[in-house]
Amino acid sequence: QQDFESRFRLPHITDIFPDTPPIPSTFCLKMRTPIGKDIPGHYSLDEEWHGYINNNDRVLLKTINYSSPKSAGAECIDPNCTWVEQWVHRAGPREKIYYKPEEVKAAIVTCGGLCPGLNDVIRQIVITLEIYGVKKIVGIPFGYRGFSDKELTEVPLSRKVVQNIHLSGGSLLGVSRGGPSVSDIVDSLEERGINMLFVLGGNGTHAGANAIHNECCKRRLKVSVIGVPKTIDNDILLMDKTFGFDTAVEEAQRAINSAYIEAHSAYHGIGVVKLMGRSSGFIAMQASLSSGQVDVCLIPEVPFNLHGPHGVLRHLQYLLEMKGSAVVCVAEGAGQNLLQNTNAKDASGNIVFGDIGVYIQQETKKYFKEIGVHADVKYIDPTYMIRACRANASDGILCTVHGAFAGYSGISVGLCNTHYAYFPIPEVILHPRLVDPNSRMWHRCLTSTGQPDFI
Ligand code: ATP
Ligand code: MG
Repeated sequence: QQDFESRFRLPHITDIFPDTPPIPSTFCLKMRTPIGKDIPGHYSLDEEWHGYINNNDRVLLKTINYSSPKSAGAECIDPNCTWVEQWVHRAGPREKIYYKPEEVKAAIVTCGGLCPGLNDVIRQIVITLEIYGVKKIVGIPFGYRGFSDKELTEVPLSRKVVQNIHLSGGSLLGVSRGGPSVSDIVDSLEERGINMLFVLGGNGTHAGANAIHNECCKRRLKVSVIGVPKTIDNDILLMDKTFGFDTAVEEAQRAINSAYIEAHSAYHGIGVVKLMGRSSGFIAMQASLSSGQVDVCLIPEVPFNLHGPHGVLRHLQYLLEMKGSAVVCVAEGAGQNLLQNTNAKDASGNIVFGDIGVYIQQETKKYFKEIGVHADVKYIDPTYMIRACRANASDGILCTVHGAFAGYSGISVGLCNTHYAYFPIPEVILHPRLVDPNSRMWHRCLTSTGQPDFI
């Protein structure tokens, strides 16, 4: 516990400004419990309940007590220690805050690619800031680029502006990759007088947010930088789930269903669906499992051969013989070793992947032509349709704003065992969260598809 505390302790504004006096919270959540006054354990109807979180509240990170190192999923635990208790800080409004709302200028920026739910998050951040009494709220257009591009001006945000933005997908503020250096971004923060920065994005954006936070600490600026993980792939460590993921799985199932209908209605039909997932196959796995219509699920974490007696193509031939059709679901980062490496990078420095979906489609066509068996191969790539969907982000996103007012910086907000918690950014972006090929979830997926090992 002690070790965890020192590792996970959040950098606090008071570390930078020891003389910053906390003031009573302006987040007014006065409620009355609907329960009668004499019931033990409940507040009486006459008392006001503010719903504040105590600073010492913690959420348990791991819920399973692995009694044997051989239990599925336990291999990541130190073999000499079968049970490790780890806790994270509980998110939510605090009784004492470290910013006077009238002195706050808050900015929101969305970076990376699109993800369902971005507008919901922007809306909820703006509304919560207003409840605290913040008057100066702006959006930075087109990601980090908006800090340096002189042609892009700040977008003033208020409840009136954001009221209905959650009804459409995408991001009100726009997104981008690449952009200015961290030092230029912090210069811009200083110039604009921004002291709360809410950054919505994936691993790259969070690496940027952490660097901005460090630069602000170095310059002794009283700025709270709070990340909100936006990753459709659900590849952020420690968190149960990131917003947009459920919507993505739901939409992905529609694509799988279309591929199934196409495959099923054709003579010897094969449907190939490519889904998001650069290094983590969560969407492909969950969508395959929940649709129940996939025969072969391929993810980046599990290597496979396409050719050879144990390859995917030989199995597809078997499926056509046995049931007349087949559906393949492949994550975009799967089987990259089978493709030619182009060494190309995008504006943010991410490696541009080869298209595994198109490759599987072409190789499948070639294979069946060579063996003289008819096969009708259909390929579906729903990526951009899924990313642009609208979603319902959970109201837990409010905690983002509470974290800033509580004086935290360099943290990210997410779900941990169904409770919202604050995580130090370096811990959640150490590496992408991956599907464990020994986990129960992957085994359930294999049971559903009935696929063998393709090695
Ligand atoms: P997605 O899940 O859509 O890929 P992402 O946040 O990972 O989202 P990126 O394009 O990788 O998207 O990064 C978003 C922004 O973060 C870019 O503007 C990029 O310049 C910046 N960025 C990425 N990595 C770093 C880093 N190590 N330090 C500072 N900034 C970074
Ligand atoms: Mg990324």
